[in-house]
Amino acid sequence: MSDVLKVGTAEAKPGDLSKGVIKGVELNTSDRIDIPVLVMKGTQKGPTLLVVSTQHGIEIQGVEVIHKVMREKVNPKDLRGAIIGIPVENPLAYMHHQYLSWIDNQDLGGGGSASPLTADKPDGTATERLAYALWQEAWSKADMVINIHCNTRPDSLIFQEILVGNPKTKDALWKMAKAFGVTTVVDDTPFEEDSPPTLANLVAKKGVPDLLMELIDGRWISEPSTTAGIRGVLNIMKAFDMLDGEVEPQEGFPIIGGACKWEGVMRANRGGLIRFLKVPGEFLRKGDAFAEIYDLYGEVLEEVTMPIDGYIWAYPCGDILGTPGSMQTVQTGANIAYYFTSSEQK
Ligand SMILES: [Zn+2]
Repeated sequence: MSDVLKVGTAEAKPGDLSKGVIKGVELNTSDRIDIPVLVMKGTQKGPTLLVVSTQHGIEIQGVEVIHKVMREKVNPKDLRGAIIGIPVENPLAYMHHQYLSWIDNQDLGGGGSASPLTADKPDGTATERLAYALWQEAWSKADMVINIHCNTRPDSLIFQEILVGNPKTKDALWKMAKAFGVTTVVDDTPFEEDSPPTLANLVAKKGVPDLLMELIDGRWISEPSTTAGIRGVLNIMKAFDMLDGEVEPQEGFPIIGGACKWEGVMRANRGGLIRFLKVPGEFLRKGDAFAEIYDLYGEVLEEVTMPIDGYIWAYPCGDILGTPGSMQTVQTGANIAYYFTSSEQK
């Protein structure tokens, strides 16, 4: 086995931090849009951790986390194993400040669709080709994945989601989540081995744990997301013996304990501006009003109430061009709030 870790054009020998690109797609100007990648190889043996951000083009907090971890916090001389960092997984979405690829309106990770975009099509659409290149060059080389997303303003809650319905990855995912140390949403839907080959399903089939992170204030580089993200990634590396040191508890933002469960989306029945009356992470009883929709005269049109006892994790507001959270306004049917319950709630 070679001692060189090669990802796209980046090559790292033991002790190196190297940069390069995964070859992307060509625009009609014949300019190529590639995917920048950082690769760090430790001087001792250990697992390969892949940290990716900005699968959705407006969710940029993870970019800073990857830069700080790989350029400041980890010295390859202290590292057992390797880190592959991809700050912007979908440059086609990022370049147009859009959630999805502007060129074909597709989601690189296959999220939110009955027929999700898969990573097995080298001759597919532009975004399918990016997914294929990411699988070939990066995801298929990982022993562990941290996939950093973000919710948007206002006041969302930092959380992580683990899919524990796959016996091959369940224990490692719990270990990653406990080490990262934020509110944990648990989905125990059984994993189907014949699931469509999205990036996430391909690693799940191999038994590679893939932790989904949701930082907050996704359009910006800001606290507490930067510190929480860096601390969480380093904690996972410590827990899996890639680095020396103790796991540090997360602090400075709300953390809901227990195994949390995603319950649903609240949608607007009226259109207008929206004001929020409660902060995500606050325990709410069924029937508590948490938002008001009002018109351009200032009249309240709808009081939005909690459907069950539980918590709100984010206020995505209205969608525009497939991009949630564009403005503090909603149309009929807009997703206003994501809500969840905890195994430890009263
Ligand atoms: Zn996302």
